Amino acid sequence: METPESDSVRDRLAIVRERVDAALRTAGRSPDDVTTIVVTKFHPASLVRELFHEGVRNVGESRHQEAELKVAELSDLDLTWHFVGQLQSKKARKVREYARVIHAVDRESLVASLGGAGNPVDVFLQVNLTDDPARGGVQPAEVGRLADRIESTPGLTLQGLMAVAPLDAEPRRSFALVRELSERLQREHPNAVNLSMGMSGDFEEAILEGATHLRIGTAITGNRPAIG
Ligand SMILES: *Cc1c(COP(=O)(O)O)cnc(C)c1O
Repeated sequence: METPESDSVRDRLAIVRERVDAALRTAGRSPDDVTTIVVTKFHPASLVRELFHEGVRNVGESRHQEAELKVAELSDLDLTWHFVGQLQSKKARKVREYARVIHAVDRESLVASLGGAGNPVDVFLQVNLTDDPARGGVQPAEVGRLADRIESTPGLTLQGLMAVAPLDAEPRRSFALVRELSERLQREHPNAVNLSMGMSGDFEEAILEGATHLRIGTAITGNRPAIG
């Protein structure tokens, strides 16, 4: 199906950029404080190339096989790849070959698999704001222990916390909780100042609560193609 010109990727990107800037102004924060990662999962490499031509440099993927193919196809572009999805330990070393940042680190076995010689990688520790372990992330009480483990693992640099706001809660409250957890974390890990939070439906609330890394997909890319 054709999308009308007024609803192009370029237009959506411009609108999201304006909304990000507006939320930053409301929050009294500097535009330099935030990195917008465009999540391109299920979209073809050609769309990533188009985004690159619109000035996008940070892209996010959540499935290894798909990401690996796109990275290879786009190796001529100076892109920073973020792995934002749940990651199986057995794929960790492969993902580390192309991803500069891994956003959903949530268990010691994954930390162990990611660590060691190779490209240094930045990691976010994912916090689970629900009671459902299938959502990924550690419970808030476990943050300190996993952070210690990440920091003591060669090759990994702890950037801060990552979270997905639960659907059944007010996003701003969820993000405020993450901010509190981050303040606590920074007492022991003063460099772990970043917050990866905010998606298409809630990035403004995330900015108001201090998000530094937004993971925005459909608001920019349009709906994801059906999985075939
Ligand atoms: C897909 C995905 C996003 C982007 O979601 P949208 O709602 O399309 O913006 C962000 N974070 C993670 C972990 C994702 O898997």
